[in-house]
Amino acid sequence: MSISSVKGFRDVLPREAARRRRIVDEAVRVLTGYGYEEIELPILERLELFSRSVGQTSDIVEKEMYSFEDRDGTIVALRPEGTAAVARAYTEAGLARALPVARLYYIGPMFRRERPQKGRFRQFTQIGAELLGRDDPEADAETLFLIADLCRAVGVETARIDVNSLGDAACRPAYREALAAYGRERMASLCPECQARLARNPLRVLDCKNESCREATRDAPIMLNYLCEPCRSHHDRVLELAAAAGVELTPNPRMVRGLDYYCRTAFEIVAEGLGAQDAIGGGGRYDGLVEALGGPALPGIGFAFGVERLDMAAGARDVAASPAEFLVAPIGEGPATVALRLAGRLRAARRSVELAPSTRRLKAQLKSADKAGIRYVIIVGDEEIASGRATVRDMVERVDRPGCFPLEAAAADIVESVTRTG
Ligand code: AMP
Repeated sequence: MSISSVKGFRDVLPREAARRRRIVDEAVRVLTGYGYEEIELPILERLELFSRSVGQTSDIVEKEMYSFEDRDGTIVALRPEGTAAVARAYTEAGLARALPVARLYYIGPMFRRERPQKGRFRQFTQIGAELLGRDDPEADAETLFLIADLCRAVGVETARIDVNSLGDAACRPAYREALAAYGRERMASLCPECQARLARNPLRVLDCKNESCREATRDAPIMLNYLCEPCRSHHDRVLELAAAAGVELTPNPRMVRGLDYYCRTAFEIVAEGLGAQDAIGGGGRYDGLVEALGGPALPGIGFAFGVERLDMAAGARDVAASPAEFLVAPIGEGPATVALRLAGRLRAARRSVELAPSTRRLKAQLKSADKAGIRYVIIVGDEEIASGRATVRDMVERVDRPGCFPLEAAAADIVESVTRTG
């Protein structure tokens, strides 16, 4: 019996991989343009890192983490997200003094044991970016500007950026209480999960997809009406700056995000036509996070995009296949070594070359070049060995050029002779 992949874990085959590569390259280009530098982080972390940051009552920590006890007794987890690890790494490396303002980006796989469906996997790839050390609204506005730029650069033109403010430790408790009281009055209409959430994490009730919960919370109090004065003016300034910069934002007072560490500005990037899993990215401000993880009191704001969803939203446009420039085709065992050396010289000169097996007939070689879209076939048969010169078949012009160049010619001369037309 053949072995299949694990549920929710998927293979990325070459065409998709080429599209993803393009997305990542474009994203990195944009991030670099905003002064972000790459940070590479481990896939395995202490479980505690996530329970202390993402939150004990979040779905991720409660039921979605791949965690196990390592042989030395350490409880570890496959990372479900990147922000907590960036904060940990920054603190652990003592970067706060050397780099009081840091812009860091990461790319890599994340793991969540969610129910797989279209656009939702148990292993997925995120491109994330964190700006640490800034608490001013200008940092939020620049982040939103960056997000809009990044979407455009990867080919997602129709993304909507939803924003909200989640308040802070000063004003959120009163809101939580108001929301919980509102929910308790409608207990019977809420799903069992939301009934439990009311006591532990009432904000999450606004996130529930259940129709009856949505109906019951239609007129629920919203955070915006509970913001304290500093949160209110921060939020107003972010909106004002974003508008001045031409970044279109959609206020969404029900958007709460699933992770506990967010405060003030929170956002979600939503694309059309993706079905139920339409969020391509999300993020927000997390001013207390670094300190909660034992680091300095350092504010931060960041976001993460899912590469699979960016790919879907970009319309899964195909990246043009990039065939090799040359097929070197030895005919018979004798010419094989000459062909190998010739291909080697071209490759050393950074030309792309496919080397055909010497056991194949010429006709089959030409057919495979045609299929792969390779324009020039360099033929090395017994006649070529005898004359010391290669034959070239131009697959576009459909002509043979016998004796095109000396078999031992340098790469530059080969390229010159082969690509010369007429
Ligand atoms: P989050 O950390 O939950 O805000 O997720 C940020 C982004 O990661 C989302 O907007 C998605 O694009 C992507 N993402 C999160 N979970 C999954 C998943 N299970 N499968 C695929 N992509 C995901």
